[in-house]
Amino acid sequence: MDTQMLIGSRFESGTETEEHILNPKTGETVLNLPEASLGQIDAAVDAAEKAFVAWSQVTPSERSAYLLKIADAIEKDAQGFATLEALNCGKPINAVLNDEIPAIVDCYRFFAGAVRNLHGPVSGEYLPGHTSMIRRDPIGIVGSIAPWNYPLMMMAWKLAPAIAGGNTVVFKPSEQTPLTALKMAKLLADILPEGVVNIVLGRGESVGNALINHPKINMVSITGDIATGKKVLQAAAKTVKRTHLELGGKAPVIVFDDADIDAVVAGIRTFGYYNAGQDCTAACRVYADAKVYDNFVADLTSAVSSIRFNQADDTENEIGPLISKRQRDRVESFVTRASEHKHMEITTGGRVSGDKGFFFAPTVVAGATQDDEIVRREVFGPVVSVTRFTDVGDAVNWANDSDYGLASSVWTKDIGRGMKTAARLQYGCTWINTHFMLVNEMPHGGLKQSGYGKDLSAFALEDYTTVRHVMINHG
Ligand code: NAD
Repeated sequence: MDTQMLIGSRFESGTETEEHILNPKTGETVLNLPEASLGQIDAAVDAAEKAFVAWSQVTPSERSAYLLKIADAIEKDAQGFATLEALNCGKPINAVLNDEIPAIVDCYRFFAGAVRNLHGPVSGEYLPGHTSMIRRDPIGIVGSIAPWNYPLMMMAWKLAPAIAGGNTVVFKPSEQTPLTALKMAKLLADILPEGVVNIVLGRGESVGNALINHPKINMVSITGDIATGKKVLQAAAKTVKRTHLELGGKAPVIVFDDADIDAVVAGIRTFGYYNAGQDCTAACRVYADAKVYDNFVADLTSAVSSIRFNQADDTENEIGPLISKRQRDRVESFVTRASEHKHMEITTGGRVSGDKGFFFAPTVVAGATQDDEIVRREVFGPVVSVTRFTDVGDAVNWANDSDYGLASSVWTKDIGRGMKTAARLQYGCTWINTHFMLVNEMPHGGLKQSGYGKDLSAFALEDYTTVRHVMINHG
C-alpha cells in the first residue's frame, strides 16, 4: 500500500499528527498516516510554482496525451484502485469497479479531448487599426481539496480540468480517505513532469487551512460542506483568490399523479440510497401527489427494506456503511429526532445495524412536512423523506424553498408538464423521469449555498482557465 505524499518528485511521509485510517465495514484501523508539516506544504506549493513555468507552455495536444496516459494507467489497474477505494470507504467493490472506475477513466479522456477544442469569440478589428484576440490561459497554482464520499472520482473531477487547462495543483484528499490518492501519487509521478501535481495529507483545520490561506495559491477548488465553503471564501478574500465551490445538496424529487410509480420506486431505491446516501445529489426529499402518496409510500417502504447491505459476500451488497461512527451517529440523530414527531412515521429502517462497522439501515421517513428538519437539512445518509402535496404549485415552491440548489428531479408521463416544472426549479440540474445520472460532457454544480463553479464538461475547463484580451496596434 502506498503511504507517502508527493512533493515535486519526492515521496515523503508527513511529520505531524497521525490520522487513523479506518475500514468503515469493521471500524478497525487500516493504518495511521501522519499529516504534512507547514514546511512540506510550502515545498509542495513551491514545486507547483516551479512546474507551472513549463507546464503552462505545454501545447494542448501534449497535455491531452498526458491525460490519456493517466486514464489508461487507471484503467489497467482498475482492480487495484477499486479494492483500495472499497477498503477505505466501505463501498461494495462492484460499485467501484463497474460504476466509478469507468466514469473516472472517461473523465480524464473527456478533458484530454476538450482541451483541444476550446471555443471563443472571433478575433477582429473592433477598434480601427487594432486587432483584438481572446486567449484562454491557465490560472496558476490550484489548491484542490476533496471530500470522502467519492475520493478517486472527486480527484479526477478536480485534477483533469485543472491540468488540462495548464495549471499545476497541490491536492489534499479527505483525511479519512487518502488511500487511492496515495496510489495515484505513484501513477502521476510516473507520467507527469515533476511538480505538476503534488499531494499532501492532513486534516481540514490544519493542512486544508494552510492551503486556502497560502499566498502563492491562485485558486481553491473544494468539494465539501457549506460551512467549509464559507471558510474558503473568507480565506480567499485576503488575497482575492479564485474559488470553485461544490458544496452540499438536498435534492427534491417531485412525483406527479401520472408518474410511473414502479419506475419512481425503483429509481429512488437506487438513487436515494446509492453510496449509503452519502451523495450530494441523492434523491432524498420526495414530494408525492396525494392521489398516489399512500401506494407510493407502501411500495417504496417495501422496496427499500429489500436493499442488501452488510452481507459477508460483498458481491451481494448494494450499499456499504457510513464513512465513520461520527457520520453514522449524525444520521441516527436526524432519524431519532424525526421519530419524536407524531406526524412522521419511520416506515422502514431507522436503526443502526450490525455490531461492528458503521452501518445504518436504509430508512424511509413518511409524513414529513416542509418545516421538518429532515426535509430541510442535508442528512448525507441512507434516509429519504416523503411529503404529501395536493397543489402542484406548493410542490414546486417547497422544492425551491431550500438553501441548497444542486440537483432535483421530476417524475411524470406528461413531458410538457415535466419541462414546465424543470424550468421553474432553481437547481444546477433537473432530471425528468430519472435522477443521479451524470455524464462527463454535461456540467455538475449548484446554485445558492450548494456553491458555484462547474465540475465536468467544457464549463469546468472554463472555470479552470481565465479569459484574456490581447490587442495589437497595426502601427
Ligand atoms: P468537509 O467540508 O468536512 O470536508 C471536505 C474537505 O474539506 C476535506 O478534505 C476536509 O479536510 C477539508 N476541510 C475541512 N475543513 C477545512 C478548512 N477549514 N479549511 C480547508 N479545508 C477544510 O466535507 P466532507 O464531510 O468531507 O464531505 C461531505 C460534504 O461534501 C457534504 O456536505 C456533501 O454534500 C459535500 N459534497 C458535495 C459535492 C458536490 O458536488 N456539490 C460532492 C460531494 C460531497
